[in-house]
Amino acid sequence: MSEKPCPFCGSKEVLEHSYKEDNQDWHSVYCSNCGANFQTNKMEYSVEKWNTRPTPDLAEAVDVIDSVVLEMRGSRRLSPAQRKAEDFLRRVKE
Ligand SMILES: [Zn+2]
Repeated sequence: MSEKPCPFCGSKEVLEHSYKEDNQDWHSVYCSNCGANFQTNKMEYSVEKWNTRPTPDLAEAVDVIDSVVLEMRGSRRLSPAQRKAEDFLRRVKE
């Protein structure tokens, strides 16, 4: 499994690093250029998370859509746009 370029700076210098802390194994995928990293307790999860994490712009858009959807939750019926937004959020947040 290989890593995609860094979502923050675009660097292809993406490395893997495993270490032990508090008796637990940690596996991190990180960018040697800007230091962005993602760690979990299993390397394949870390790589998967790294490869599927939203880019900063997308992350911001998701935040905005999220707050709009929350605001609209009060209305009784879901409008088509609302349904689309909820569906999008569900997919992106997986
Ligand atoms: Zn980077």
